[in-house]
Amino acid sequence: MKKKHLKELVANKEKFIIIAEFVPLQGHRLGNFEKFLKGYAQKKSELPDDVVLAGVTIPQSPSGVASLSPVDIYSLLEMKPAPDSLGNSNDPENSNRSGGLWRDLDVVPHITAKDHNVDAIKTYMIGLQKLGLESVLALTGDKPAESKGVFEIDSIGLIELITAMNQQAFEKAKPDSFDKVHQFYIAAAVSPFKYTEASLMQQYYKMAKKIHAGADCLITQMGWDTRKSEELFRYLKDENINVPVFGNVYFLTTMTPAPRLMREGKLPGCVVTDELFDRLSSENPAQHLERAAQQVAMYRDLGAVGVDLGGIFDFDMLVEIMNRAKEIGHNWREHRANLDFGLDTVSLKTGPHAGKEQPGFYLYGKDDSRHLPSHPRPTFSKRSFDLFHNLFLEPGRGLYPALKLTLGLSKGLRVGKGCLYKMFFAGFEKPIKTMLFDCEECGDCFLVENFGICSMGKCEKGLANPPCGDAEPDGTCGNNPDIQCVGELIYNAAASEHSKGAADSRGQSGLKKLQAMINPPRLQALENTSSILNYLFGEDHTRKLDFLQIAENLSAHLPKAYAAMRQLSELGSDALERPSPALSYLISLIEAQAAHRADYILVNVDSLAEDDTKLAVELIGDYVQLVKKHGRNVPVCVDGRNERVLIAGLELWYRNSGDQPGMPLLRSVTDLTADNILPLREKHPFKVVISLMDSARSNSKDACSADKLFDKAKRIFDKATDKYGFVPDDLFFEVPVCSLMNDIPSTPAPGAACRSFETIRKIMTASGMKGVHTLFDIASCAKALPGRRIGVCRAWLDKAREFGLDAAVVNVLHQYGLKPSAPDLLDLADALARQDGSQQAYQHAQKLLDDFCRANRKPKPKKG
Ligand code: SF4
Repeated sequence: MKKKHLKELVANKEKFIIIAEFVPLQGHRLGNFEKFLKGYAQKKSELPDDVVLAGVTIPQSPSGVASLSPVDIYSLLEMKPAPDSLGNSNDPENSNRSGGLWRDLDVVPHITAKDHNVDAIKTYMIGLQKLGLESVLALTGDKPAESKGVFEIDSIGLIELITAMNQQAFEKAKPDSFDKVHQFYIAAAVSPFKYTEASLMQQYYKMAKKIHAGADCLITQMGWDTRKSEELFRYLKDENINVPVFGNVYFLTTMTPAPRLMREGKLPGCVVTDELFDRLSSENPAQHLERAAQQVAMYRDLGAVGVDLGGIFDFDMLVEIMNRAKEIGHNWREHRANLDFGLDTVSLKTGPHAGKEQPGFYLYGKDDSRHLPSHPRPTFSKRSFDLFHNLFLEPGRGLYPALKLTLGLSKGLRVGKGCLYKMFFAGFEKPIKTMLFDCEECGDCFLVENFGICSMGKCEKGLANPPCGDAEPDGTCGNNPDIQCVGELIYNAAASEHSKGAADSRGQSGLKKLQAMINPPRLQALENTSSILNYLFGEDHTRKLDFLQIAENLSAHLPKAYAAMRQLSELGSDALERPSPALSYLISLIEAQAAHRADYILVNVDSLAEDDTKLAVELIGDYVQLVKKHGRNVPVCVDGRNERVLIAGLELWYRNSGDQPGMPLLRSVTDLTADNILPLREKHPFKVVISLMDSARSNSKDACSADKLFDKAKRIFDKATDKYGFVPDDLFFEVPVCSLMNDIPSTPAPGAACRSFETIRKIMTASGMKGVHTLFDIASCAKALPGRRIGVCRAWLDKAREFGLDAAVVNVLHQYGLKPSAPDLLDLADALARQDGSQQAYQHAQKLLDDFCRANRKPKPKKG
């Protein structure tokens, strides 16, 4: 029986989609699941014909109480034979029925970060891949009721992790099987049911961050306040966020303890007001069911693609709700009084105004206008933090250079060992940060990103990207009634930041920063070490690569990208507008490269267009636009052998650009094409790769010397800066790279590597050229090597960095610059870089290369 997939149903847009939510009964019994699934088998035709039940979603240890894992529930029920349309599952005929008790339904397990570290989450996800489950709901998770929560990542980190797994699945795919690659379809949660400005806006900011991280659709928190539900859809429209939304509809009935628990705040994040509770208590179950149907009608009318329907007992109930919702249709507003249980005022229990009341916050006023953000005065603690940070820890400013220099004199402080280090960490940093920030010594400090608030010490879950959805209506933490949610503190601190000289900026500068800020997961290896020293010496999350990466994978020279581009070409002229496996692969590739710190995303279509310039111009336009759309603001590097392709790519990069896109890079100009390309700068600013490659490829005696290559670079540099107004930072000189295998001449003579490294040194130290870049196409060094190619590239790059190289065309997925090179490969690179033709250098390089080849040559398979 063909399984339904949430992703396909959402894409089809044909029917309104239901996802039913179930948790096991007491004693981990699954009778309710079984009853529901058998009911579905018997009565699915009773659903309205414009509605489809997509599947069942299963929470993971709801309310933080240990329970059956969603994946175990899936497996246990999948092992049971599918019932027939009469609900029988015991007759022998049925025992052979495929599809198990789930039949054609999708299963949507919740994935949370509360109980598992990152490796355990990955392990769990691999299990889902193997089971063929694709739809998941990624959540931070409830605070465990009894044990210690893990929260190594939060919902954003979790979505990033799942997105990375999707990208890795594509990386491993064969070019002819993009359609068979397992891809998770990721749902994320959002709660519009927050009643302070800080909590609500943080929810909306985090929602956008989740989408940026890779969420495919949203499921709302449950709530009974139509103004808030409408507000979410209005906000999405205003902010131009196009993402499918499922409304959460919970059958709230006094037949269960749920309303009481929610009213008492025992289910953090779920708001049941006294008024709603009193109303429920005076009603009968049929009226409770009617409310659920009205909510379904409301979400459908507001534009939701479907609903997540929880709290129901069986399939009959689902049918009843959906049929009644259909009858209500667009007239749900007639029932507003039965759905509106918002909060006009909230009583503040924590924070500076504890004990006072304030109006419940709605983003849009009754007159339809949108609230401007508040702009509180910076607190004393925020001002002190900013002062201290700007004085000592802002790179390049104040006392930062002197502090770094002085502390760097001690090897112990640099490497985190010895008495001086212990004195600094335990005697100075630890007590001060504990006193001021409730520091928990994570060693990877996000105080700067969080506007001077520690999200470890001041959050019950220690989240890198607070808040979770648990805050109470007044902004108190749902897991600790004595503290204000850290999300509130961060928002208010951000709102108190103003642009310099703009008295009326109303906190916009800080809030814009907060909106854009996605904190990476903390580096766990740094726990209990000095975060100040980790920051100063580039060991923490602020660590930057010391070279620019031009990501090479979107090039038709590479077999997989070529195959995907070719498949798209065969799909017709609108192939980039329609979903297809090949397009998904290319989008995933672009997003993965952006996520792996690409500074530019290279596009090359030469192999696809061959000598057809017109086609090449068309294709480059398509792929430049694709990078613009999915490259997360990473600029494109337009690459091609034909200058018309470069010009077309440049123009298309700037076409229809609302926001100013980053300056693109054109690769390459030569002596011959410089006067055609460089003048375009006046119309469209760009940076440019200048090729020093021609006539320098071989190892023959005629190859250019380092002096000649340098002279050529200087000549083009002078022309670009004097005649066409380029600044040094705009210019990348691409120095030839020869494969190691071809770099030992037959008789002692300077090797190609030696010439290239020397050229880099000359360019980077030339007094008049300060600020230019030098570039290697790093993969070329490892061509035809018998093994360890990535390791050789890594060593080659590290060695070139010693000579001053600061840019490279690389496969960014290999994480060059982040892992150390193998010492033996670094020795080999060094020997070749210094192979200047002297007898000793020649023999040394030859020996190391021979040793390398011998050690890495793969044995030939025996015949027969
Ligand atoms: S402080 Fe806020 S983000 Fe942290 S657990 Fe409490 S409600 Fe969640």
